[in-house]
Amino acid sequence: MARYTGPVCRICRREGTKLYLKGERCTSGKCAFDRRSQVPGQHYDSRKKVGEYGMHLREKQKVRRYYGLLEKQFRNYFEMADKKPGMTGENLLVILESRLDNVVYRMGMASSRKEARQLVLHNHFRVNGKKANIPSILVKAGDVVTINESSTDSAKIKELLEECASKHAPKWLDVNTENGTAKVVTLPAREDIDFEINEQLIVEFYSK
Ligand code: SF4
Repeated sequence: MARYTGPVCRICRREGTKLYLKGERCTSGKCAFDRRSQVPGQHYDSRKKVGEYGMHLREKQKVRRYYGLLEKQFRNYFEMADKKPGMTGENLLVILESRLDNVVYRMGMASSRKEARQLVLHNHFRVNGKKANIPSILVKAGDVVTINESSTDSAKIKELLEECASKHAPKWLDVNTENGTAKVVTLPAREDIDFEINEQLIVEFYSK
C-alpha cells in the first residue's frame, strides 16, 4: 500500500497547523511546529498573498494529511460523499471519521492514526467478531470493534489498553477501556469533529 514516507513534521509546518501525526511527541516540548512554525522551503515568501485556489488547495491538503491519506483515496472519498444525500462536506468528514484506523485512534488505543493503522494491519482488531485488518474499513452505527483474542496477551496491547483508560473517547463511541471494546453508538455528527476544518473549501476545490 502506497504511503507518504517523507519528513512528517514538515507537513504540519507546510499546512500551518499541528496535525498530530507523531503521537506523544506532538504534545511534548519536542514538537517541531511549536518550536518553528514557519513554512519550510528557502524560497517561500510569507508576504505573498495566497489566492483563492491556494486557499482551497491548502484546506484539502490539510484534511487529507490529517487523516493520512493519499490523493487518490481522498478523492474517492469525496466522490462517495458527493453521491450521498445531504451536505457533501459533512458527508466527507463522517466517512473519514468512520475509517477503522480512525476509530482505533479515537478509542484511545493508539497515539496517532499511523500507529492505529499499523495495529489494524497487524490484525489486532475485529469488527463484529470478524477479521478486520484493512484500515479503510468503514464502520456503521451498531458495529462493535474488539481486540483480536490472540492479541490480548501481547505486551504492547496491554500497554496500549492501560493508556487507553486515561484518554477520552468521543461520545459517538462507547469504549470499554477494560477490554478495549468500542461500540459505534452512532456515526459522528459534524460537531463531534474537534479539528478546525472548513469543509466547504474542499467541496469548492473539487467542484472547479
Ligand atoms: Fe506535527 Fe506532531 Fe511533528 Fe508537532 S510533533 S510538528 S504536531 S507531527
